[in-house]
Amino acid sequence: MNLLTDIKSMTLSELEEYVTQNGFQKFRAKQIYSWLAKSVTYFDEMKNLPSDLKSFLKTSCYISVANIEKKLVSRYDKTVKYLFSFNDGECVEAVVMSYKHGYSICISTQVGCKMGCTFCATGKSGFSRSLTASEMLAQIEAAQNDLKVRISNVVLMGMGEPLDNFDNVVKFLYLVSSDDGLNIGMRHITLSTCGIVPKIYELAKLHLGITLSISLHAPNDEIRQKTMPIAHKYSIEELLQSCRDYFKTTGRRVTFEYSMISGVNDSDENARELADRLSGMNCHVNLIPVNTVEGTGYIKSNIKRQQSFIDILAAKNITATVRRTLGSDINASCGQLKRKHFNEGGK
Ligand code: SAH
Ligand code: SF4
Repeated sequence: MNLLTDIKSMTLSELEEYVTQNGFQKFRAKQIYSWLAKSVTYFDEMKNLPSDLKSFLKTSCYISVANIEKKLVSRYDKTVKYLFSFNDGECVEAVVMSYKHGYSICISTQVGCKMGCTFCATGKSGFSRSLTASEMLAQIEAAQNDLKVRISNVVLMGMGEPLDNFDNVVKFLYLVSSDDGLNIGMRHITLSTCGIVPKIYELAKLHLGITLSISLHAPNDEIRQKTMPIAHKYSIEELLQSCRDYFKTTGRRVTFEYSMISGVNDSDENARELADRLSGMNCHVNLIPVNTVEGTGYIKSNIKRQQSFIDILAAKNITATVRRTLGSDINASCGQLKRKHFNEGGK
């Protein structure tokens, strides 16, 4: 366990309190904060700080970094996948995608995941620990510095369940959108969840302006319970009610993710049931042909099935698109690179 203070997870006002409590002047906090925003990794790089403050920081705090353990670049579309390690050696994945409007990063929020969805590589690998806010920031900074680009969009869709790490994720959202920090606006951030219902209500109350994305993956409780253990805890109706509340409270349209698995959730009847459930909601459905994960036996739905789903949803005025698969040659679906790395004898 690290007994040092995680300085990069502090907001400016927390940092001000911290430095003054330890006998330093308040304005020093702003100086430290702007060095941290410039991604410095050593206190000695903070050139305008007096040496007694630097010595204090070195003995009482640490700066989170994400070290690049492995990097894969897709031959097809320049998608970049990273395996990052943190101060304690734990590893997570992140993926940078390039779109017409800029760069987007998919980051992890936990090392592993407790939720155990049967189609998911992360879910199969078990849970180790939650990430701190600074470790989420560090993934973005490491990728930006490596690629020498500015990342403008963030999706919390990597390893882990963001709402199972609620406080650190919310802190990260405040830090990443801060004017003095990376300054990535809340409207450019999407949080994906398997549906921890009470936390969705809590999130709505914060009025952050982020997009909420729900991993639905089934039109009814029976099918959902087969692939997502969380469905035993909260019914689809309870989940959709929390989504309606999210829209009502924040004015932000909710997105539903639906991984299409051949013979499991992709029949015309499944599409009709889904359309009925979502009817009247201001939402968008992202269809994702399921990525094959070793040991699951799941096969992705074919193009005909995908089109049929889109048509049935469209007939009921629900917009759906099939998500473009990026980085298909580099295990771009999160959890897969880490599994491969460790199965091949990575440290
Ligand atoms: N825990 C959160 C966020 C991380 S998972 C969540 O579940 O939403 C990010 C997305 O990838 C989720 O929509 C998840 O359902 C999806 N996913 C996981 N494994 C997949 C696979 N093998 N194929 C397609 N999508 C997958
Ligand atoms: Fe966890 Fe999301 Fe994977 Fe389910 S899909 S196991 S919630 S990371």
